[in-house]
Amino acid sequence: MTHLMNNYGQPSLTLEAGQGPWVKDTNGKVYLDALGGIAVCILGHSHPAVAEAVAKQAHTLTHCSNLYGIPAQRELADKLCALSGLDKAFFCNSGAEANEAAIKLARLHGNKQGFATPKIIVMEGAFHGRTLAALSATGNPKAKEGFAPLVDGFIRVPYNNADAVKQAFADNSEVAAVLVEPVQGEGGVNVPDEDYLVALRAICDDNNALLMLDEVQTGVGRTGAWFAYQFEDCLPDVVTLAKALGNGMPIGACIAKGETAELFQPGSHGSTFGGNPLACAAALAVINTIEENEYVDRALELGERLVTGFIQTLADTTGIKDIRGHGLMVGIELEQPCAELVGLAAEAGLLINIAAGNTVRLLPPMILTDDEADQIVDMVSALIKQFLGA
Ligand SMILES: *Cc1c(COP(=O)(O)O)cnc(C)c1O
Repeated sequence: MTHLMNNYGQPSLTLEAGQGPWVKDTNGKVYLDALGGIAVCILGHSHPAVAEAVAKQAHTLTHCSNLYGIPAQRELADKLCALSGLDKAFFCNSGAEANEAAIKLARLHGNKQGFATPKIIVMEGAFHGRTLAALSATGNPKAKEGFAPLVDGFIRVPYNNADAVKQAFADNSEVAAVLVEPVQGEGGVNVPDEDYLVALRAICDDNNALLMLDEVQTGVGRTGAWFAYQFEDCLPDVVTLAKALGNGMPIGACIAKGETAELFQPGSHGSTFGGNPLACAAALAVINTIEENEYVDRALELGERLVTGFIQTLADTTGIKDIRGHGLMVGIELEQPCAELVGLAAEAGLLINIAAGNTVRLLPPMILTDDEADQIVDMVSALIKQFLGA
């Protein structure tokens, strides 16, 4: 009997240590971690630069609240704004909270225009987190089951369809913002067409609405750019970050541009833990390490190596619907549900997960060697072949 609530079910593995892309369970068995704590451990486990920064800060000042100035928070905001081309940052503790901040900015933007009930356009297949507003913005009906009443004010349209967004503006008054993932993660590693974000940018401009990108999973270099929108000629009004930002130290950020960045004023939003010295020290170490090692380019290179590898090894395998990726977000979609693959992989010493029921999802760290990347390709391909009986 456990005193933990059952929302995660019974985990089949218990991990106790990690080093780079490798983790060890309580029986001493070693696994190659191709999931990286679900897109969090982008520098692998126990990265020395992050560990050192956290230890040093823990011995100096862990927390002081946002009643007082936090130099590392200012430095992190400077850094994120320089990298993103946006102007100001708000820090919180998770992806859901970063999206809550974005949703509140959209409400302020709408209310400023005199909208009685400002609306936000969101996508089918979207995942934005588990707090009530972020959950309401999320697409998956199963995640929302039993939690009514949800938060009002969201209009849902198909993903990767700019015309549907345009139509939603035509059909609805008082639309204040569009909230979208540049690549859908939980939705199944869905990579939209080139210029999708550019088209959304133009539609938002025509309607004085905010373009808000949920880069909680795609951000901090994972896709092969610091932020996925940097592959397109498009600057959003709001970007949300979390997952990889602290490499495991909980931190989220909502970054905004221009007038949008001025919407929060003293008293309008806040967080007790958000952006505390410990979390900011970790995030600064993450960003500096990525910069010093040019890991963003490496993420692109590794992503291409993985996808090319899978296309080769799975070329003659029937039952594969699609192999796709954007940097270190890789999805292999099967023609059938494949949840059992998680357990088969663990037996073989590999951590993966399944998104949208039928897509093997890999979110490995950017510190992989070529050999380790090839090992992931070989192991995953062998498992898929075994599973499909091919
Ligand atoms: C994981 C995720 C979230 C939620 O982040 P939490 O830290 O779990 O609240 C939001 N959006 C996207 C795109 C995510 O992948």
